This record gives sequence, structure tokens and C-alpha cells, in this order.
Amino acid sequence: MNETSSQLFEEAKKIIPGGVNSPVRAFKAVGGEPVFIREAHGTRITDMDGREYVDYVMSWGPLILGHAHPAVVEAIKEQAGKGTSYGAPTSLEVGLAQLIIEAFPSLDMVRMMSSGTEAVMTAIRLARAFTGREKIVKFEGCYHGHADSLLVKAGSGVATLGIPGSPGIPKHLAELTITVPFNDEASITGIFAEHGREIAAVIVEPAAGNMGVVTPNPGFLEMLRALTKSHDSLLIFDEVITGFRLTWGGYQGIAGIYPDLTCLGKIIGGGLPVGAVGGKRIIMEQLAPLGPVYQAGTLSGNPLAMTGGITTLALLQHSMDYYEAMDRLAFSLCEEMKLLFARKGLPITINRLGSMFTVFFTPEPVNDFTSASRADTKMFARFFRGMLKNGISLPPSQFEAWFLSLAHNHDDMEKTLAACSATLASL
Ligand SMILES: *Cc1c(COP(=O)(O)O)cnc(C)c1O
Repeated sequence: MNETSSQLFEEAKKIIPGGVNSPVRAFKAVGGEPVFIREAHGTRITDMDGREYVDYVMSWGPLILGHAHPAVVEAIKEQAGKGTSYGAPTSLEVGLAQLIIEAFPSLDMVRMMSSGTEAVMTAIRLARAFTGREKIVKFEGCYHGHADSLLVKAGSGVATLGIPGSPGIPKHLAELTITVPFNDEASITGIFAEHGREIAAVIVEPAAGNMGVVTPNPGFLEMLRALTKSHDSLLIFDEVITGFRLTWGGYQGIAGIYPDLTCLGKIIGGGLPVGAVGGKRIIMEQLAPLGPVYQAGTLSGNPLAMTGGITTLALLQHSMDYYEAMDRLAFSLCEEMKLLFARKGLPITINRLGSMFTVFFTPEPVNDFTSASRADTKMFARFFRGMLKNGISLPPSQFEAWFLSLAHNHDDMEKTLAACSATLASL
């Protein structure tokens, strides 16, 4: 039975809320119906109707090697033949932990789990336990998964759907989360002047991907490091996207600013469900069974996920030329797109960080959620639909990053630029 995308979506909507298992997959912000995928290889995904697209979603970041990378597929197959889960420790967990710790000098220990949400949830719990304080600070437009404390003025799907908070989160919990604008030194300094001694942690995407790509202003991360340190609060970097995306390691290595705790996910699972939290030994030792802070998971450190991660990281290790190649391709693609938009007379701002970037439909610089929100989301929606029709799969939201992988090549770029020209001509 080969059902079409449309038929499947009709079926799905009856039994799955909104027809999707994660809101960002719905096309609510861009119109139309989500495309159901049959299979994907390298940069190309094929939908249920047999249409092929050049993909820039890349499963929202994890697939830095491209879809169905042969080495990853082979390794997972081999591991699956030996068992998919044991509920007991394996050498694979040690192997992935070693790779991560080697790449992140700020990590003495790491705990694996099954999603980025869990990683962040655990980091917050650890910070609260370690400091004996309850308040946390996050930045508007940053997304840290869907745990209760962090769904306040969040990015990603929350921003896309225009949901400021979420019902179902106890008021008293939400009140413990203070939000400030990204890149706003005065606001965070003010918050610390007022509440500094009650703040357990500041959590930040050191380079944000979930309001679209927004990089930190020079000095911003340094300031967060100094401020948290002087108030005995912890600094948590959520590197679920940026971990291994820009270099071997995280954005912290690029910035030279080291947090107390780091959250990872996405790339470290090579396309399988994963999350990890790591940091200073004295904090990590608070986790059960060493310490009193409880955290657990039936499928944590799952052998398939560990295998996906190890195979992916092993390929990236000692391969700075891979990162440079992605950076060059992303640079060329962005520069060429800028020319096409300029020729059309449509003002845009492209924020790019290595192989991740966002085309914001605004002429103004974008350096926080307020400026991102000024983008013309209706125009983005029309652009998105045009690109999709012309065979290019973009994230269905203005407030997300487009991702390149090692599989993206000149041919993909040419196809993308041709689609961009055709789309702009039709706008
Ligand atoms: C994706 C993401 C998360 C959540 O990870 P899940 O695996 O979806 O739970 C957390 N933080 C950031 C920065 C992310 O991009």
C-alpha cells in the first residue's frame, strides 16, 4: 500500500494530535500540509508521492554526515544484531563518553540520556541542588527542550506557533524562571544586581539556533561567565545544536568561554535519540548513584544511539577540513542567495555560523528575539512554499536554522540557487 502524503496526513490527524509527533513538523506557520517521508540518502529526501528534495532540515541538526550515511547504517545494523538494549552498561557508553570528554575540556564527567530535553532538565536540577537556589535565568528565543521550567518565552516551535508560555506549567515553577533578551548585557546585569544570590544558573545557547541563527555579541559570553562566577551561580551552555556542529567540540571552544555544565544531544547520537549532560566533577558527582540528585532512563546510553554517535564522531575527529568544506559551501550559498534577493529587491538578513544559517526576511540586523520577530513571516511562508515546490526542503519556520551536512555539494547548491531564482520570480 502506497498512500500519498495527503492521505497519510488525514489518517494521522485522526489519531495523532495535529498529525505530527513534534509541533515543528507541522506546516502551521507556512501553510499547506507536512510532507511524509519515504526515505532519504545523503542530502536527498523522497516523500510518499515520490518527489525528491534537497534537504536543509537534516532532522533539525543531528545529521551532520547526511542521511543514511553508509558507515552509520552499517554500524547500527551490526549492533542491532547483537541486541538493541540491555539495561546494563556497555563499552559503547564508555567509548562515546571518552570521545565527548576529549572534545570538551570543560567536561570531567558525562551522563547519557535519550533526549536534549532530559539533558537540560538534569542540568537545571543539578544546578539547583548544587547551589541550593531555585531561580534560573534563560534568554528570550532560546529553546532548551520542553521541560516545565524552560518553556518560558522559548524559541523553536514555541516561537513559531506564537505561544508565549504553555498551559499546564505550574505558575510557581514558571515564576522561578527569569527571562532576559539575548545579547542584552544591561538586562542580565540588572537581574543579577537584584536577584544574584537566588540564581542557581544561567542557561544559554552560546550561539542560538532556535530563534533562527543568532550569534553572541563580542563580550556577551565573557560577561555571563564573570557574572555567574561572582555570584556563585552556575553557567550552563546548551550546546545540543552547536556541539560538534562547528568544530570538533563545542562553541565554547571557539569562544574560549567554559561553562560549569554543558548539555548535548543531536549530533552525538548520529540521528538516533540521545542527550547528555556533562561538566565539572564536583557537580556531576551529585548525580545518583554517587550523589543524591536523581536521574535515570530505561534506554539511557542505548547501544544503537551510542553506536550512531561513536561512528559519527569518529568520522569528524581529526577532520577539520570537513568543517572547513561545509563552512565554504555555506558561505558561497549564502552569498549567492544574497545576490538573488538583492536583484529581486527583497530585503533579507542572513545570519550564518559555519554550516548553520537563517535567512531572515527583514533588512535589519537580527541579534535577539525582538529583532528576529520583526521578520516578515508571511513572506517567509511564501518563499518556503515556493522552495518546496521547486524541490528544496527548508525548516517550515522563519525561526529555525538551515543545516548543511558533509553530504551537501556543489550540485545541491546549484539546485538550491535555481529553485531560489524560480521562487523569487514567482513572489
Ligand atoms: C533540540 C534542542 C533541545 C531539545 O532536544 P530534544 O532531543 O529535542 O529533546 C534542547 N536544546 C537545544 C538548543 C536544542 O536545539
